[in-house]
Amino acid sequence: MKQIPEEYKSAYTSISSLGEFRLIDHLTKNIPAKRSETIKAIGDDAAVVDLGNGDVEVISTDLLVENVHFDLSYVPLRHLGYKSVVVNISDIVAMNAEPIGITISLAVSSRFSVEALDELYAGIQLACEKYNVDLLGGDTSSINQGMVISVSAIGKGKKDEIVYRNNAKAKDLICVTGDLGAAYAGFLVLDREKAVFLKTPDIQPDLSDYDYAISRQLKPEARLDVIREMKANGVKPNSMIDISDGLASELYHICTQSKKGCNIYANKLPIDWQVGKVAEEFEIGINTFALNGGEDYELLFTVPIEDFQKVKDMKDVHIIGNISEDEHVLQVLLDSGQSVELEAQGWSHFSRP
Ligand code: ADP
Ligand code: MG
Repeated sequence: MKQIPEEYKSAYTSISSLGEFRLIDHLTKNIPAKRSETIKAIGDDAAVVDLGNGDVEVISTDLLVENVHFDLSYVPLRHLGYKSVVVNISDIVAMNAEPIGITISLAVSSRFSVEALDELYAGIQLACEKYNVDLLGGDTSSINQGMVISVSAIGKGKKDEIVYRNNAKAKDLICVTGDLGAAYAGFLVLDREKAVFLKTPDIQPDLSDYDYAISRQLKPEARLDVIREMKANGVKPNSMIDISDGLASELYHICTQSKKGCNIYANKLPIDWQVGKVAEEFEIGINTFALNGGEDYELLFTVPIEDFQKVKDMKDVHIIGNISEDEHVLQVLLDSGQSVELEAQGWSHFSRP
């Protein structure tokens, strides 16, 4: 076989040597936002555009690729449609904005029937109804293989109500909604059952012991209810992000962008008992699910300590730690009194083995 000369080998940089975030930075650094309307371009859950009169529009977009982001051997198309919309609405909500509409762009191979796509759109319809958003348009194309879905969402808000990632203050209380790690637990169970099914297709798995975890993986919800409740209670977070890549990764975003550190109390992490069961079966530490699981689509936000009473009384909000002045010190305090450095192991598409 002909060898590639060394000088050619080094002329190109592999995408994996950069990783997802540095690649985005590399590609976009020479195209800074210049218009006065652009309040936030790249770097948050959604971009923010000034409409004048104190109103803003927020825009977010996501790409879902078959066998990278979803596996149709265990994800029903209806669920996929629902989840594709919800994850985008979650990004709008994470800016403390109200979602208005979505666009859906679809590339499909001839492997899919019209009936299959009807299922996908039944899920999209359900999500539009649940979150009261309109389907505004999209684009459709054929593709040689598989399926690619791109969803964009737009939302609206008042300029002074939008919450960014980069404004956490020292002493802020760190809060999360719902519970963490169950979506990852659901993924592990579904993936295990897929392997069993491929070996012994005639055995139907009994997944009733894992129903909550599986529903969290297949049918996540955006926490529009929580931002509305906060507004009603007069709480405006200093910073906020949705938990798509795992708590550790999202804390890293908030802390680095805010130039702060954090202390997280492991015993305050809200974790459902089914996650405990899966953690035991897979011999993975339970905190790993909560910290690095991902796809929960809960909200992570920080509020001034003065709001303690207000957030303490919110049913589905848990205070898990506080923001510190110590930039670069992101730590988890364990029951034993030990503290460990947080490691953000969120999905890094290009650097995954
Ligand atoms: P999220 O995890 O919320 O989907 P990403 O990590 O995908 O966000 O993106 C981080 C930021 O980079 C976002 O502001 C997004 O709009 C922007 N971004 C991602 N990919 C590109 C791209 N190819 N070109 C321009 N901007 C991008
Ligand atoms: Mg996000």
